Amino acid sequence: FRVLGIESSADDSAAAIVSSDRTILANIVEKQHHIHASSGGIHPIKAQDSHAVGVPVAIGRALNEAKMGMDDIDAIADIPSGPGMFGCLSVGVHAARAIAVANNKPLVGVHHMQAHALTPLLTETEPPQFPLLNLLVSGGHTMLVLTTETKPYDYKYEILANTMDDSIGDAFDKTAKLLQIPWLDDQGPGPSLEAYAQPDPTNRVYDKIPPLRLPVPKELAFSYAGLKTKVVKETAKLFPNLQKPIPQEIARAMARRFQEAAVQHAIDKVNMALDQLEGKGEHGRSDPVIVRSVVASGGVACNAYLRTRLQQTLAERSPGTGLPLYFPPVALCTDNAAMIAWAGVLRLQARDGRGDELDEPIMKKWPIGSVF
Ligand code: ATP
Ligand code: FE
Repeated sequence: FRVLGIESSADDSAAAIVSSDRTILANIVEKQHHIHASSGGIHPIKAQDSHAVGVPVAIGRALNEAKMGMDDIDAIADIPSGPGMFGCLSVGVHAARAIAVANNKPLVGVHHMQAHALTPLLTETEPPQFPLLNLLVSGGHTMLVLTTETKPYDYKYEILANTMDDSIGDAFDKTAKLLQIPWLDDQGPGPSLEAYAQPDPTNRVYDKIPPLRLPVPKELAFSYAGLKTKVVKETAKLFPNLQKPIPQEIARAMARRFQEAAVQHAIDKVNMALDQLEGKGEHGRSDPVIVRSVVASGGVACNAYLRTRLQQTLAERSPGTGLPLYFPPVALCTDNAAMIAWAGVLRLQARDGRGDELDEPIMKKWPIGSVF
């Protein structure tokens, strides 16, 4: 069967059609970067306004691309509880509900972070094995989640770690702004910072900046707020007035140091989580879990340096055998509706095709704070 997924949680209006045989029949993302580039961050009202056009346009384009009408669609998936910006979410949810009612199709509500987490089950020919360790690195979240399959298509999520302050994506975005990094065409601050952080042997400043290290605390929780402070301090040592245009060489060198530290922090936590799951150390589980794969997803998992470092880390942990590591393709790491439609396929399968009631307080199932 085929599911039309709609996503409008932040600054992209997206619609996609995915079938239960794991085919992406259409995947449309209407980006808003041009609207937010000048302010250096997402403006909630402008984003919501833009969704009011972007969502219907994306739905129309998705049906067109798949050469389908609503008769060819079996269900609609949306993200009633997000997480995301309320005004933005509601544009997509209203559209999804209107379409479902008008066409007498079941509506399934899925969770935005579950959708990020489950994307490799859609894209990999040999899907990751359970139990799996999810490293979710995105604009709003930085989490380690142990995901197990309780019965086919039904998953249990145990949050092992969250961030105590900023998310890793937020750290990238704030640092890009602080270092005055211009946004690449059609891209946001994360990829723009990554481009600035490319190793450059001619950059003399890089060697003058000490590696930015985050303390390795005893607990598993992430903390990114301190890293921004370090960037400010180190940059100010080289260039005291951060309000003035920062010389490129400094911004590029600092971006590279930042990226190294941000990624290292995530790697430290992955190592720590795997140790604990294996029953090692003071906080090791008394009932060790044999993790069969690691999945990194969410927007920051686009980052090529993070991908390489994570690959190296897992190879070092278990030489020879190596714990399999999966990333969604870059286009499906950041927000997209294919992941929403796919999570909808799984949820429908787990519920034997039953949709959610329109008036069901779906929010209650996924209260803020307990993300899954
Ligand atoms: P959430 O999924 O937590 O609700 P979100 O939907 O806003 O948040 P995503 O679309 O999953 O987040 O990811 C966007 C984040 O990923 C932004 O912070 C962005 O800067 C970051 N990002 C995207 N590409 C890269 C990259 N190449 N390097 C680093 N960060 C990146
Ligand atoms: Fe997201």
